[in-house]
Formats: sequence, structure tokens, C-alpha cells
Amino acid sequence: MTRKYNFSAGPAMLPQPVLEQAQAELLDWNGTGQSVMEMSHRGKEFMSIAETAEADLREVMNIPDNYKVLFLQGGATSQFAAIPLNLLRGKEGADYVNTGIWSTKAITEASRYCLVNVVSNSESSHFTSIQNYEEWNINPDAAYLHYTPNETIAGVEFPWVPDTGEIPLVADMSSNILSRPVDVSEFGLIYAGAQKNIGPAGLTIVIVREDLIGDAMDITPTMLNYDVHAKNGSMYNTPSTYAWYLAGLIFKWLKQQGGLEQMEILNRRKAAMLYDCIDNSDFYSNPVDKEYRSLMNVPFTLANSELNEKFLTEAATRDLVYLKGHKSVGGMRASIYNAMPEQGVIELVDMMKSFETKYG
Ligand SMILES: *Cc1c(COP(=O)(O)O)cnc(C)c1O
Repeated sequence: MTRKYNFSAGPAMLPQPVLEQAQAELLDWNGTGQSVMEMSHRGKEFMSIAETAEADLREVMNIPDNYKVLFLQGGATSQFAAIPLNLLRGKEGADYVNTGIWSTKAITEASRYCLVNVVSNSESSHFTSIQNYEEWNINPDAAYLHYTPNETIAGVEFPWVPDTGEIPLVADMSSNILSRPVDVSEFGLIYAGAQKNIGPAGLTIVIVREDLIGDAMDITPTMLNYDVHAKNGSMYNTPSTYAWYLAGLIFKWLKQQGGLEQMEILNRRKAAMLYDCIDNSDFYSNPVDKEYRSLMNVPFTLANSELNEKFLTEAATRDLVYLKGHKSVGGMRASIYNAMPEQGVIELVDMMKSFETKYG
């Protein structure tokens, strides 16, 4: 069997040792004679899996005790509604930063529940840059400020965290959570769909400061209410048990790799290899401001877009797959999350160079 290097934006690759462990435990977890998939979520076996996963995530991200960690469903997209419903707390509006397609979706959904003040909008630059914080039009009475630290589609990432003072900072970290250390105490709420850098699809993680919980709007659906999930240990209804278990195996794997400091070193190395290849060629290009280039999602175009199909075909013959770019950007996109081995990037760069020599 050859495992392919999968550059998809999500669902993305999972570390092979984790898949092997899941395979070894598939029929019989820890001598229980059951698959994790078959266990009651309220039984002591699954409870221990769930608690260990949370403890390991807390350790890996150094999450302070006054934050709840929720293991939910519905994807990051459900959180676009849950956030205003839970965090407005009697206020009229919230601040949103528009740095790309995911920010825009969050804004559209939040606008159904509150007045959205767009503090900064980089649409006119086709989302290839980020405006300086000093120029943002902050409303001091905003219930919170929402931003997207990594825009998965255009490949734009914040190298800094906005300092919003008393205004709770809310971050959609779907595509860069666990890719580098963050100081959780700078945030009111962090959320992420799992299928990019946490585990399989079907799990959504919300890390929320306790004082922001408990004042949801009356119309909030029970399943979007953080207080309900916090009080029930994320088991108000049946959680996504198998995805929770796999995420737990990933957290252990991250600890074995040396934690997020090591991940950042590796992620910087992988991204630098790709950007160097792009910048040192007249054939490939990436339009994002160098300062704001994403470590996780690297879009690039070919000088001649008629070669796109040929590029994808040649890449596939080398087991490099899912490189087609998002339709709004065109060209290619290489998503290189934690589980993409360095070797995968080396082989992609090698393929890009020989393709350029042949057709460039
Ligand atoms: C993928 C993605 C989403 C959507 O996540 P779902 O889990 O599919 O709802 C939201 N925000 C960002 C930044 C993403 O990359």
C-alpha cells in the first residue's frame, strides 16, 4: 500500500501512527471487547477516553483553568451563529474583521442576530493582506471582536494577535489551531472544526472563558447554548464519540512530537520550502503580502493556467493529491497542516521544479 500525500484543505491527512493505533484498537479497545464506536458515551470506558483527551488538549495548549473546553458537533459553521447568540449578553453589536471568505461567512451569519461593525475589510486587495490594527474602526462598546487568524482559502495568516483590551477576542482557528503555541488567556473564545488540524470531521472544539458563559439569548437553540454543553460535559446529547477518541490520540501524538513549539518549527520549515520555491521561480506565484503568508495553506498559480490540468495529473502520478486551488483563487493550493510529513513537501517542491523545467 502506498499512502498518498494529501494536500487537501480539509478533511486533511492524519498522522500515520495515530491511524495505526486506531486500527489496532478498532475491534477491542483496551481489553474491553468493544470498539470505541460501540461504547455508550456515558460508560466509564468512554468517559475515561473523553477526560484524557480534554486533559491532553489542556496540556498541549496550556489552557488556563478558567476556560471550558467543549467537544461539539455542527462544524465551525454552527459557531458562526452560536457566538452572537451566546456572547452578545445584552449588547447590541459586535466587531468583525473581514480578511476573507470565512470571515465573510461569519459576518453574514452574525448579521442575523446582531449589528455587525466591520472594523477592517481587505476585500479590495482580494484578501491578500491585513490592515494594521491601529487603523481598525473598533467600537468600544462591542460585545466581542471576531477574527479569523488563518484564512484557509486565500492563504492569509495573522502573525500577531489583536490586543482588544476588555473586549473579548473571538478566533476562528479552524485551520491553524495546534500549528504553533498561542496564549489562550488573550482570547475570550477559540473555536475550530476538527477536520483540518485536530482530527476527523464531525467534531468541533470550543474553548471559552467561563465568565462569557450563561447569558445566552432566549432564542438560542439548546444545542448552540454553551451553558448547556458546559454543564453537561459536552454530553447533553450523544457526542461524536469516535472523532473525540481520535482527537485524543492526536493530542498524545502532539505531545510525543514535542508539543506546539516543535510543531511551529516544523511548520515554518515546511512553509519556507514551498514559498522559496515559488519566489525563486518566474513560473509560480503567490500574491499574498509576505508578512501575512499562511504557514498552513499555500495557494499558488502557474504562469500559464492552461497547464493546470497537466500539473495536477503529473502531481498525482507522484502520489501528490488534492492540490487543486479554491475556485475563487484558481491555480493550486497546498495545505500543509501538522500531519503533512516534511517529506511530502520535499516531494512537492521537487515535482514543481521539474514541471517548471519541462513546461515553464
Ligand atoms: C473549514 C473552515 C470553516 C468551516 O468549517 P466546518 O467545520 O466545515 O463548518 C470555518 N472557518 C475556517 C477558517 C475554515 O477553514
